[in-house]
Amino acid sequence: MFHVEHSLRPHIPHPHSATLIVTAMADFLPSTPPTEATSSKPSSKTIAVVNQKGGVGKTTTAINLAAALALDGINTLLIDVDPQANTTGGLGLPRDEARISVYDVMLGHNTAAEAILPTEIKNLSLLPGSKNMIGANLELVTAERREFRLREALEPIRKDYDFILLDCPPALDLLTLNSLVASDGLLVPMQAEYFALEGISELMSKLDRVAAAFNPELKLEGVLLTMFDDRTILSQQVRANLQEFFSDKLFTTVIPRNIRLAEAPSHGKPCVVYDPRSRGAEAYFDLAHELLQRNGLRTALRPRKRLIVDPIPPPRDIISTPEPKKKSRIWPFGG
Ligand code: ATP
Ligand code: MG
Repeated sequence: MFHVEHSLRPHIPHPHSATLIVTAMADFLPSTPPTEATSSKPSSKTIAVVNQKGGVGKTTTAINLAAALALDGINTLLIDVDPQANTTGGLGLPRDEARISVYDVMLGHNTAAEAILPTEIKNLSLLPGSKNMIGANLELVTAERREFRLREALEPIRKDYDFILLDCPPALDLLTLNSLVASDGLLVPMQAEYFALEGISELMSKLDRVAAAFNPELKLEGVLLTMFDDRTILSQQVRANLQEFFSDKLFTTVIPRNIRLAEAPSHGKPCVVYDPRSRGAEAYFDLAHELLQRNGLRTALRPRKRLIVDPIPPPRDIISTPEPKKKSRIWPFGG
């Protein structure tokens, strides 16, 4: 079962991060080096960006959150676990089935270290995906410890990164299962639409069963509203309902619908580099900031104007909240 934990505090060192930030981000340089929140031993945190629903912003979130963390001096690895390989393409790598990818790592042909590539962003590395991974789902079915392939492959390199983010496919298949087993936390992007709330209980129940069976340490890092349109009452109501359901596990930061986020992949860049001043990029900088804060870290990023500053309006009525019983069984938010 997942546990709500308010004090996840991996120590993530980023001394003198200002010097590590790429030139393009000069405007976002901190005025002072970040202060470390604790002096405990450095550790790493692995987060799977997961939702079985397609097109909710998993890849956009994985790319831009990873890049925003890296730009803040956080040593970050992005892993493309989706056979669509959109994360790989979105970082400017052409499709190439001959390149060593997550597929080879999961099948044991290569080590993770052999597959990891640098990117044009300092502090950001990529373990690329490929469409070969469609086959991995089948090839691994009869393999020994098939659910633990990715976890075991990442073990030797985990300590090299402060954060590892995994972009999962839109399915609860063996690839996603491997990602969940390899992770410490889950980040669930959800589109702010009526049907977003359908299937929440099902998703959470499945995640809960995975955690119970394979990875008892797995926790919900947070739920993120994406493609948010703050002009609509529906969006506000979806947010209010999610807040009621997920409590403080709903990120305060919401990602607005923003054309620059959709354009950036065709330029082979994260939006936080392609257009760092766009609303979409700013939201992902905010998300990185919030993630670091939630993990007990101080960050040097300047606080930015949040998309939503007003208190949430009283929830109601267009959308029903998922069943309370399931909620408390699956996500025991303090009670
Ligand atoms: P899949 O389930 O197929 O892997 P996904 O959950 O990874 O999809 P994305 O690929 O990130 O979703 O986003 C789906 C589409 O929506 C993409 O074309 C992307 O560029 C666009 N998009 C994502 N987030 C936003 C946003 N906030 N504003 C505008 N467009 C967005
Ligand atoms: Mg995707």
